[in-house]
Amino acid sequence: APADRPGGAGSGFVVVANRLPVDLERLPDGTKRWKRSPGGLVTALEPVLRNNNGAWVGWAGVPDVDVDPIIEDGLELYPVPLTAEEVAAYYEGFSNGTLWPLYHDVIVRPEYHRDWWTAYVDVNRRFAEYTAKVAAEGATVWVQDYQLQLVPKMLRMLRPDLTIGFFLHIPFPPVELFMQLPWRTEIVEGLLGADLIGFHLPGGAQNFLYLARRLAGQPTSRGTVGVRSKLGVVQVGFRTVRVGAFPISIASAELDELSRRRSVRERAAQIRRELGNPKHILLGVDRLDYTKGIDIRLAALQELLHEGRLDPAETVMVQLATPSRERVESYIQMRGDIERQVGRINGEFSRVGYPFVHYLHRPIPRDELVAFFVAADVMLVTPLRDGMNLVAKEYVASHSGLNGALVLSEFTGAAAELRQAYLCNPHDLDSVENAIMSAIEDDPETKRRRMRSLRRQVLAHDVDRWARSFLDALAQDRVAGSALLTD
Ligand code: ADP
Repeated sequence: APADRPGGAGSGFVVVANRLPVDLERLPDGTKRWKRSPGGLVTALEPVLRNNNGAWVGWAGVPDVDVDPIIEDGLELYPVPLTAEEVAAYYEGFSNGTLWPLYHDVIVRPEYHRDWWTAYVDVNRRFAEYTAKVAAEGATVWVQDYQLQLVPKMLRMLRPDLTIGFFLHIPFPPVELFMQLPWRTEIVEGLLGADLIGFHLPGGAQNFLYLARRLAGQPTSRGTVGVRSKLGVVQVGFRTVRVGAFPISIASAELDELSRRRSVRERAAQIRRELGNPKHILLGVDRLDYTKGIDIRLAALQELLHEGRLDPAETVMVQLATPSRERVESYIQMRGDIERQVGRINGEFSRVGYPFVHYLHRPIPRDELVAFFVAADVMLVTPLRDGMNLVAKEYVASHSGLNGALVLSEFTGAAAELRQAYLCNPHDLDSVENAIMSAIEDDPETKRRRMRSLRRQVLAHDVDRWARSFLDALAQDRVAGSALLTD
């Protein structure tokens, strides 16, 4: 564990997340090495971290190891150790077997186990204790996501001097679903330890405000919450907690630049040739997760093929699926279901040398992934529920030529911003099929107009702007919000 901060020292800005922005790798000979895992969040926060003698507190991704902090100039990484049992109960159990399905509209039934909850409390306390030790007097701490919802309250009890922000990267569920949770009050009170609680959408913020009244018994504002504006307010004793909507995004300009590179363009052209020069390339890119609606887009395609609306001689589907949570039972089952579905469609509609569905179950390197985005005529994003969905924004950022079309589920956070996509209801197969057919058959001018509008949104609202808008709101005078309580 990190030593107590020597008087006056410590970090002025601390990010707390389940995972560090680096992964520990254990090599076969027993030695360990660090591997950078670049995500949007790190990229966006790196400048803020470096300018504020920043620190990141998180798990290194390997159980049962206790590793020293990594101190580079301007950035300190503090690994929080977890045992294998804790990974099973706190991470695979409570985080991904209870909260994930509950917050994603119970697509899969959440499991409620007391020992998972106990592990969640213990691990959240450990994260809070580590953070309390590395944060400087009066520092700003930004806690990330559903694995750490108790940290704001625990940390405030240890360190009342800190300014604490919390952001939820997944949807916040409807009140009726949240009320299932046996530990619903503890979670709401845990979050209320923060000064600012951020959600992707105003709806999530409003659901939370209702629960803060109902479960925590605190007075709240009642006006509607806006996007990056009109924050809600919860009065917790003398403290004012603000609640807002801050839709996350991607490093749009970098992706735009990458997608214009000659090497990427050439690889995209090569991909089209390798696929047999089809007229239409359809693409899906997801973590293999039951929320993503991979089964739904495959069912829609299968029906379109059966009805003869899609011609397998001129269309291919590429599904890139990153392995995910491979020890959680529902994921094992879903993988089997999807692979059977792929096999069935290919059995019926492929020719030798020309499969209809190309399915890769592995992570794809960044440049290669962008080449697939560039090559794809239609991107299929059909989740049953998704907090945001960055893939939709990545596809848009990769289409500077204004070609291509995005089919997008209404049940993603991205749909609130990307109104010019081919929107569909994933619970309504006709709606998905019609969106796919329009995305294929609309005239090029219509598609260009839609893509231009989508790009305007994505390029103007990038991940830097997201981080800045949240941190600016967090830094604002806490008292300013309390006027809202009178409405
Ligand atoms: P989630 O966070 O639920 O996985 P998002 O769409 O918000 O969903 O983010 C997924 C990220 O993972 C995107 O940046 C996307 O490019 C990346 N990704 C998804 N599938 C793959 C894949 N097969 N190979 C490489 N990266 C992938």
